[in-house]
Amino acid sequence: MVLPIIIAIIALFVSFGVWLNFSAQRSQRRQVQTLAELPCPACNTPCGTEAAEQARQAHLERCREARRQRPDVLVNFVRYWVIACPHCGNEARFHFQTLRLSHSNHDAPVAIEKSKRPDR
Ligand SMILES: [Zn+2]
Repeated sequence: MVLPIIIAIIALFVSFGVWLNFSAQRSQRRQVQTLAELPCPACNTPCGTEAAEQARQAHLERCREARRQRPDVLVNFVRYWVIACPHCGNEARFHFQTLRLSHSNHDAPVAIEKSKRPDR
């Protein structure tokens, strides 16, 4: 009597994990595709899939490097990718949560120290 319930609960967790994984992959593909199709703020030419994927990879590497350099801080990763236009070289920011592109400005904070977290 208990075994089918346990199996059902395990199946539910596995299904949720699979769904979460596919959802994250779909979201990343949508972000890259959106960035690839957005016109560059300087030359008005879409940057393309390769440049968009490079911007995403550079962001991930920047996050890993920040975590390596300061493991004592709670890293609040910046919410944009920096993309260099392959046509004119202009750098812009792609805000991947809002799917918007803006002119680049590199002075944003990368991390928030643990002691400044509001919930503790
Ligand atoms: Zn451009």
